[in-house]
Parts: sequence; C-alpha cells; structure tokens
Amino acid sequence: MILIARTDPDAPKHKGISYFLVDMKTPGISTRPLIDMMNNHGFNEVFFENARVPRDCLLGEENRGWYMATTTLDFERSSIGGAVGARKMLEELVAYTRNTRLNGHRLADEVRVRTRLADAGVEAELGRLLSYRVATLQARGQVPNYEASIAKLFNTDMQLRMAKSGMEIMGLYGQLDHRSRWVPLRGRFERQYLWQTGLAVGGGTTEIQKNIIAMRGLGLPRG
Ligand SMILES: Cc1cc2nc3c(=O)[nH]c(=O)nc-3n(C[C@H](O)[C@H](O)[C@H](O)COP(=O)(O)OP(=O)(O)OC[C@H]3O[C@@H](n4cnc5c(N)ncnc54)[C@H](O)[C@@H]3O)c2cc1C
Repeated sequence: MILIARTDPDAPKHKGISYFLVDMKTPGISTRPLIDMMNNHGFNEVFFENARVPRDCLLGEENRGWYMATTTLDFERSSIGGAVGARKMLEELVAYTRNTRLNGHRLADEVRVRTRLADAGVEAELGRLLSYRVATLQARGQVPNYEASIAKLFNTDMQLRMAKSGMEIMGLYGQLDHRSRWVPLRGRFERQYLWQTGLAVGGGTTEIQKNIIAMRGLGLPRG
C-alpha cells in the first residue's frame, strides 16, 4: 500500500512528509472492512499500531512525499475511464428505449425520453473530449493537473445524472436490486447510481476539485 507519513515534525505543513510503499503483512498493520451502500466490500479502514516501516520502503526523496502524492492524485483522479462507461450506458439505454413498449408505443417515441437521451448524449460527448485532453497531456509526457480535476468533476457528475436518467426512464423497475428478475439491464443503472455517489468523494471531493480548478486553472486566490 501507499503510505504518506510525516518524517520531519519541524518542517512546514507540506514539507517533511515522505512517500512509502509498504507491505500489508508488516507487523502492526491491520484492516477492518468497510461495507458500502451497495453491500460491497471494496475498501478497508487501515490501522497502524507500533508498525515499523523499513527504510527501503521509501519511494523517491525523503521529505518530498507531498509533491509525489499530489502528482499521483493528478493521474488517479482524471477518471477518464468514466467517459467510456458513460458511452456504454448511453448505448444500452437507447437500445432499451427502442425495445420497450409502454401504453402501446415505444419508450423511444416519448418526447420526455428523447429529450433526456439527447442531453445524456451531449454530456457523454463532452466527457469524452475532456478525457482526450487529459490523455493528450499524458501522451506528451506532461502531468495533467486542473485538467484532471475538470474531467473528474464533470465525468463523476455526468455519470450520476446518466444513471438517474436511466432509472427514471425505466420507472419503478429501474430502482430494483440487480438480483431481481424484473430489473432492466441487469440493474446496472441502479448500481451505477449508488457507486457514483461515493465517487464524488473518492479521489478528492467535489469541493476540492473546484478549489484546484479555481486556483490552478483560473488563477484565483486561495479562498
Ligand atoms: C468510493 C471511495 C473510494 C475511495 N478510495 C480511496 C483509496 O483508494 N485510497 C485512499 O487513500 N482513500 C480513498 N478514499 C478516501 C477519500 O480519498 C476521502 O474520503 C476523500 O479524499 C475525502 O477526505 P475525507 O473523507 O477526509 O473528508 P474531509 O477532507 O474531512 O472532507 C469533509 C467535507 O469537507 C469538505 N472540505 C474539506 N476540505 C475543504 C476545503 N479546503 N474547501 C472546501 N471544502 C472542503 C469536503 O468537500 C467534504 O464535503 C475513498 C473514498 C470513497 C468514498
């Protein structure tokens, strides 16, 4: 696991922190499962009790860990895979509305459904372009910074809106558990809705992304 620890208590806030790669089997490290609202165990609380980390676990330069951690986050949070997932969800939703009949007509023929699908289509395309921007920077050997925050913020919100649109188009069936035989599209939209809510926090909350965009993207002063 990645461990960021203070190694110089007298140094200023962002200095004196180091970046370690630690074996989870190290004595003194224990975990307790965190069960999320999808009833999944994807994350743990991690506890350190008198754990001693060998010097050779240090990654990079001692006391420069903060800068390495923020660079790691710049890569992690770009979330560009979300744009691909959104495209796939949109295609499945469009097919579902074409194949599902309600009150004698196809769902795809209802104006309210068409409008929502059109909005979702525009947003999925925007998410794709923002993700290309991040990928282009990386391909040039540059580190995406506020650009990654823009993509993360937009793609997270966009997928949440898409999941919500899907569930509303499906009506009450859309809210059924993914194990129900009556839930459309294997319950993917309900699952995605619950998952995306957490993603607005993971990798840095929405507020943190907005602060980065404001300060590093727009050059605004620290709030
Ligand atoms: C699905 C998921 C996956 C995760 N995966 C990982 C993982 O793999 N590895 C890992 O280490 N962690 C992971 N996390 C933890 C995640 O990174 C933190 O929960 C997240 O960064 C928020 O930190 P916090 O919980 O300490 O909240 P806090 O920082 O205490 O924030 C609490 C609230 O205050 C707001 N806030 C805080 N600071 C500011 C500010 N300066 N300006 C404005 N508002 C502010 C936040 O937006 C939030 O609403 C995950 C979390 C989730 C939900």
